[in-house]
Amino acid sequence: VSIADLGRHLSERLGSGAVLDGADAAGRLVGWTVSQPLGAGLLVRPADTDGVATTLAACHAAGIGVVPLGGGTGLVDGVAATGDLVAISLERLRTIHEVDADDRVLIADAGVTLGAAQRAAAASGLEVGIDLGARDSAQLGGLVATNAGGNGVIRHGMTGDRVLGLEVVLADGTVIPGLRRIVKDNTGYDLSGLFVGSEGTLGVITKVALRCTPLPAGRLTALVAVVSFDAVVAILRDLQVRTAGAVAAFEVMWHSFYQAVAVESGQHRAPLPPDAPFYVLVEVETGTSDPGPEMLAHLLDDAMGAGHVLDAVVPHTAADREALWAIRDDIPALTEVLGGRFAYDISLPIGTMEAYLEELSRRLATRCGSRLVVFGHLGDGNLHLSIGGLQGSERPAIDDLVYAPLSELGGSISAEHGIGRSRSPHLHLSRSPEEIALMRTLKWALDPKGILNPGVIFG
Ligand SMILES: Cc1cc2nc3c(=O)[nH]c(=O)nc-3n(C[C@H](O)[C@H](O)[C@H](O)COP(=O)(O)OP(=O)(O)OC[C@H]3O[C@@H](n4cnc5c(N)ncnc54)[C@H](O)[C@@H]3O)c2cc1C
Repeated sequence: VSIADLGRHLSERLGSGAVLDGADAAGRLVGWTVSQPLGAGLLVRPADTDGVATTLAACHAAGIGVVPLGGGTGLVDGVAATGDLVAISLERLRTIHEVDADDRVLIADAGVTLGAAQRAAAASGLEVGIDLGARDSAQLGGLVATNAGGNGVIRHGMTGDRVLGLEVVLADGTVIPGLRRIVKDNTGYDLSGLFVGSEGTLGVITKVALRCTPLPAGRLTALVAVVSFDAVVAILRDLQVRTAGAVAAFEVMWHSFYQAVAVESGQHRAPLPPDAPFYVLVEVETGTSDPGPEMLAHLLDDAMGAGHVLDAVVPHTAADREALWAIRDDIPALTEVLGGRFAYDISLPIGTMEAYLEELSRRLATRCGSRLVVFGHLGDGNLHLSIGGLQGSERPAIDDLVYAPLSELGGSISAEHGIGRSRSPHLHLSRSPEEIALMRTLKWALDPKGILNPGVIFG
């Protein structure tokens, strides 16, 4: 069966508007930077789970590969296709079926954006506990498929920690109705968990049940300039104790990041002078709706007494708060300042970070013109490294510099973005041969013809 035959068959079954071909499929722009068109031979947009099952069953029968497509915000090249592949987009599965304030659960189609889910939960006094800069494009299915992290992991865990159950369509079109809404259910294997972080290689997620938590009455936000890395760690530890674990974000910007984005880019008004080694954007959930700056002073009491804090600013309005977050989230400005960058999303134990970064800087210093910029979700052991000033041909050598020490330090080559195609050559640095063999066993059990997202994770 050719792609054209398959397109005709699916048009008959799903309606012609659901199936795009030619330039409409190949030229579809996906991805954050939209520099690369999708490149698929067909783009199928089913309206419901049955349509997804019909599409997968037909592709399975024909032995044609399928690329599941969410909001296209993934950062590891997980949705690229070629003319002999079918892309299946979840964009029309957009219904929020239920928000239950008693069971604290949100049940929605996989194509619902994170932002829409957040707003629906908030209307019932709940939060889904997942947040990231791409909230208005990233879809629930994509978030689960990549087990996305984000700004709230320190408080709420990764996306997978929020999944109560999933409805998934397997490669052959079988629908697995695992949409559970209860927290406790130890009745055998965690089947929904299999699809968390599977990046479209084991099945297509069509519905998601997420565990919600009460929306906190208020949030105290502050940007704090800190004297040293040890002081940053001490502040985090102290805040966790003083708030009984209510730290909702602890975003650390090394001086290199603050200098590039808040100062050099010209896009922001620097809220604090750029002379501190570290800046921490901290948020604490509070029981009061209007926590004042005195609460921060109380929380940072010990840190200030110990001389850890150089300066701090507390936003007075929502716009002021957004301006602080805009600095932390302004990756486009960072890219522009660096004139292009190699980006890494690694994790490692907090106690090893400083020595790791010192060694990396030392090694990079031998490469003329290179510039290392660091920020990260410190409480999760997650660092985002950006290295500018290098030629594309230097990428493999820099990958080795960044990744090689991680396994010995107990770290990971991909903290929260997944493996996709771009990191598959380095999977073996974070997973043992036995683990990769088991992953392959699962892959072939669920997708024996290997049609789902070929090239992703396993290369
Ligand atoms: C500005 C910005 C900020 C970001 N910040 C963060 C961050 O802080 N933390 C973080 O972890 N990530 C972050 N990301 C990355 C990104 O948002 C996540 O990877 C997101 O989870 C991907 O969701 P998506 O719907 O866009 O999926 P896509 O990019 O469309 O797809 C990602 C992968 O999931 C698969 N997939 C998508 N939908 C399904 C489905 N329904 N069933 C099965 N497989 C599917 C795809 O095949 C692909 O392999 C950021 C991205 C941007 C652009």
